[in-house]
Amino acid sequence: MNKVSSYNHQTHKKQTLIQITDTHLMADPNAVFLGHSPEQTFHAVMQDIQQRYPDANALLHTGDLAQESVESTYQRYQDYVASTRYPCFQIPGNHDNLELFPFSTALPQPGVIDLDPWAVILLNSAVKNHIDGFIQSEQLYLLEQQLMQLEDKFVVIACHHHPIDMYSQWIDQHKLKNALELKKILQRFNNIKVVLCGHVHQDSVNMWNQIAFFSTPSTCVQFKPRQQEFTLDQIAPGYRCLSLNPDGSFTTQVHRIDYELPTIDPTICGY
Ligand SMILES: [Zn+2]
Repeated sequence: MNKVSSYNHQTHKKQTLIQITDTHLMADPNAVFLGHSPEQTFHAVMQDIQQRYPDANALLHTGDLAQESVESTYQRYQDYVASTRYPCFQIPGNHDNLELFPFSTALPQPGVIDLDPWAVILLNSAVKNHIDGFIQSEQLYLLEQQLMQLEDKFVVIACHHHPIDMYSQWIDQHKLKNALELKKILQRFNNIKVVLCGHVHQDSVNMWNQIAFFSTPSTCVQFKPRQQEFTLDQIAPGYRCLSLNPDGSFTTQVHRIDYELPTIDPTICGY
């Protein structure tokens, strides 16, 4: 069972995890997506992160890295984040190309970021040619094995698709379709503290079974919360910081950049 109480908390320091998501980068860095320049807003977000959190321990991208998922888009992203010197990790979203995506481990094995005494488990919920998400049964089996090995750590789980309803009909039809299967595994372990997702382009907090579920703003365009139909939001791009304490507690904050928003084009009704 949970062995976390046997940890010597004195030997550990606070760990800082930064989540960015839904950069929707184009093949051409000067191209526009839904009225925004994804390249510029991504760079502005990264500059804010570097100013506020120069010593962050990991940078995690939770998918939809590319809107135009070609090799050069992924290469440009990797070159950029490599120049920041943060340890960088990424999981794919529905807009990504699974054949070109720079996974940190070979599928279906989930990736793990070691932030001792925390561990971040990275799941792939993207399925080729699907907007909604699904975690393959083989990956769920491996997740369970990993969780058994990580019972003395505090755990964060990340996937692109939201496993919990956003109360927006249009986006909830594109959620993680087998969220119930995932939650059945999660509820067997009492050291899982956080589930992170992207996909919904909005900040949200939900508690379930003593696990905090967070979604995070896109580094680009935002979707308005609790809308039945596709609706863009007039709010700046952002990212999330998680400060993970050695005793298993944590704090989190969403930061938004200073950014002059383009006027919403009312003819845009999807993406
Ligand atoms: Zn997205």
